[in-house]
Formats: sequence, structure tokens, C-alpha cells
Amino acid sequence: MQFDYIIEGGTIVDGTGRAKSFPADVGIVGDIISAVGKLDAAEANQRIDALGKIVSPGFIDVHVHSEVALLGGRDQLAGIQQGVTTQLTAPDGFGWAPLPPKLAQEMWHYAQFGYGEADLSLNWNSAEDYLSIFPGHIPANVYPQVPHCAVRLQAMGWAARPATDEELKAMEKTTREWLEAGAGCLCLGLDYQPSANADLRELVTLSKVAASYGAIYAAHVRYQTIGRRKAWEETIEIAQQAEIPVHISHERVDDEIADILDRVEREGIDLTFESYLYPAGMTHMVLMLPMEFQAGSPAEMLANLENPMVREKSLPYLREKLGRCDQIVGYTRSGRFIGMTLKEAAEQEGKSPEELAFDLVIEEEGIETFVFPWQTPPQENEVTLNRTAVHPRMMIASDGVYNIPHPHPRGYGCFVQFLRHFGREQRLVSLQEAIYKMSGFPAERFGLKDRGRIAEGLGADLVVFNPETVADRSTWQEPVQPAAGVDWVLVNGVPVIEGGNPTGQLPGRVLRHSL
Ligand SMILES: [Zn+2]
Repeated sequence: MQFDYIIEGGTIVDGTGRAKSFPADVGIVGDIISAVGKLDAAEANQRIDALGKIVSPGFIDVHVHSEVALLGGRDQLAGIQQGVTTQLTAPDGFGWAPLPPKLAQEMWHYAQFGYGEADLSLNWNSAEDYLSIFPGHIPANVYPQVPHCAVRLQAMGWAARPATDEELKAMEKTTREWLEAGAGCLCLGLDYQPSANADLRELVTLSKVAASYGAIYAAHVRYQTIGRRKAWEETIEIAQQAEIPVHISHERVDDEIADILDRVEREGIDLTFESYLYPAGMTHMVLMLPMEFQAGSPAEMLANLENPMVREKSLPYLREKLGRCDQIVGYTRSGRFIGMTLKEAAEQEGKSPEELAFDLVIEEEGIETFVFPWQTPPQENEVTLNRTAVHPRMMIASDGVYNIPHPHPRGYGCFVQFLRHFGREQRLVSLQEAIYKMSGFPAERFGLKDRGRIAEGLGADLVVFNPETVADRSTWQEPVQPAAGVDWVLVNGVPVIEGGNPTGQLPGRVLRHSL
């Protein structure tokens, strides 16, 4: 047999999390792993030396704001350089299809804090229409999720109320369209507009549609309105009522939810979650306002904020939410304050931090992003991160935000930080477990049958890295730093990273869910 590539002499960690690592060569024909074993006598167009290196399946990022960045620009390779070969679309339910241009434009404005500047047509009549922008233009694969924001906007615009029967029917139809296009998950951001206005009936109804296609439910839960515990309980309610596997985005294991996780175990609830394992989040300041003032289209929301009564009611609320005021400015439309803390920016402007935060939302037309450090003490954070890293229901996902001036370091570092810090240095997880949480586990959970493992017949998405040097280099001060120690990354059998350097190849495809 003639192979296109043989990766030789490496140690295989196969992504199942069960098997021990073992020495073997990997033979690739076209876009498929064709052989795993001793291939020193076989012929290949090119041999890749992996002596002393780990060969693993490509990593899968189930929550990442990368679909625009993947099309080009500074951050196009931020995930690939860490070994991420498949990235899911529509994190937090954000999406722009199928929407008429005006609504798509408004949704883009709303979500721009997570996507930066981009030159897109924002005119996609169908899910397929949107997905057609990727093949031939992306270094990694994308895998669609149903974008609940677009589903709801299409049916009822920015209305901040429960759906009528008729509107719900329209939402079911759009949800079905995405599932037919191969979406493996119904994805929601229940703190964000317009999804925050969905009631339990809407969530259960749409989840039943998703479940009928074998898809799962994933949500950024309602932290802001009902609080974290109740939001977890609501998610379990959805799992039970709709009989659907559920997944909670960007979470952590601490005392507040430890007993809920015990209940999940006891009652056999089909629930997983993901974490990026840094003690800070990233979102827009808009989310810190009282929820009633976040409702409506961006233009409606901004007009409402001009009301002095709204400002007066918001300031004490913000003061409470902002704690130490150590949030870092990641993006403002004007370019002001980048990399400064909220406190520093406020001092510079002669305002209180809450005044600056409120006024900034208006002045930047809602286009602003901040790093939000956890307000708990650092020693407590470390305990929480360590508990999270070892939890059997936890998988790794970056929640990376790109194309903004000062992003969160997770976007360039999440996957390799897990290998370096929680694996090699702290020895909290074995290499087999670590790889499983980044490949086999997300693939199984989100229904990617031919990815996430090294085995004959599966898709040739592969990473070769040095276990002694693999590391994140992105920091809070310098977040845009590519990963170290990742030597080769192949996507669909094509090298995108070769000897540590980008090849410029764009072999990424749209992967589709199959039962
Ligand atoms: Zn989120």
C-alpha cells in the first residue's frame, strides 16, 4: 500500500481515554487514517518524524467564537497552533442565518463584542447558504450548531416576551433546517439577547426537535436572571422533559454546584460541561446591566440607556456586580482604554468605575468587551480550577474570542495550558485523560463519529507535539502569543502546521452530524 504520509516513530495517545499510549506509526491515505502499526517497510510520499513526540487526534473545541476568525486575519491559526482541528459554530447560540439582512446586521452589532470587525455579507437565506462560506477558506473544520439567537429573531425579532404558539412553530421550522444541515447541537446563550427571553416551554419544545435528530442541548445558562444554581436545575429540567442529553458551557466545579453534580451522578442525568480553566471570563459590559435594560435591538437598548432614570437605577447595580473593578478592557469601538483595568480607565476619566462602565456602553454603541476576573480569592480559584480539571464530566473548550485588540489568553492558550499546567506540571490528569477531554470526549458527546480518535478508517485530523515542551505562551498582558511545542497538525490529511510552521493550507470542511 502506498501512503500519502506516514507519521513514524511517535507514541500514540488514541483519544479514547482508556487505552494506554503505545508506540506505532500512522499511515494516511487521502483524508483517512489508513493504518496504525509498524509501517517502516511501507511506502509513503512523505514521512513525518515523530520520534520522542506524542501523536494524538486533533482537538475539538465545542465552544469558541472563531468562525469568523477562521476565514482570515490575525487569529486564523490561534486554535490550529494548539492542535485544534475542529471548531463548533454558534457558541452561546450566536448566528446570522437564516435572517433577512436587517436582522442579521442587528445581530452582528449585538454580538460584535465577541467577533470584532469583519467584512461579511450578512445575507444568508438558509443554513446551507451560511455554511457554504467555509470550504476552501478555513484551516480547521467547522461543525454547525443550531444558533438559537437566529432561530428566535427569525420568528419574532427582538421581542422580550415568551413566544406565541405560531412563533414557536416558526422556531421549530428553523431549528429543523439547521438540524437537516448537519447541526449536532441546539446551542443557547440564555443571558444574551434575544435568547434570554425564551421560557422553559420554548426550550423544551425546541429541545424535543433537536432530540428527534439525535442532537444535544448546550447552553450558557441564566446566571444573570435566576442565578447559577437555579440555572443548572433548569438545564436538568430540560434534560428530563425533552429527553435530551444536556451540556453546560464554560463552567467550573466549586461548592455552589458540587451537590448538583452529586445529584446528576446519583440520578444518572445525562449532563456534561466544559471549562477553559482560567480564573476569569470575557464578555461585554452590557451583560452587567439589569436584564430589563438589556432587552430589545441594539438601537432600542442604547436609546433606553439615554434615559437618566435608567442610569440612576443601573449605577448601584453595576457597583455591586463589578467588585474589585479589575476588569480588563479588551475591545472598544473607539480603541480607548485597551489593556487598562476598569479602575484605571475610570481614574483617567475622573469618574467612578460604575459611571465609566455605564457611559462606555453608550459611547461605544454597545461594542465593548472586557476580561472579567473571578471575584473570589486566588487560593480559592486554584482549588476550583483543580477540582474542575479532574471532573469526569468536564471537557476542555476555549470560549476563545478573536479579532479584538486585547483578547482573553484562553483563545491562544486553553488547550496547551491544559497539557502543560494541569498535565505535565501539576500531574492532576494523565496524558490519556487530558487528550480524551480534548478529543474523544467532545467527539462522542457532540456526535462526531469519525473524529476524536486515532483508528483505521477515521478522519485524518492529527497532532504531533512534544510532551516536554508543549505550552501556552499567551498571558493576561500579552494574550496574542501562539502555542509552543506543537510540531505538526494535519486536517483532513493535509498539513496545516509542518515542523512548527504554518503551511498556508486551508483544508477545513463543514462536518455534519449523522445518527
Ligand atoms: Zn457564554
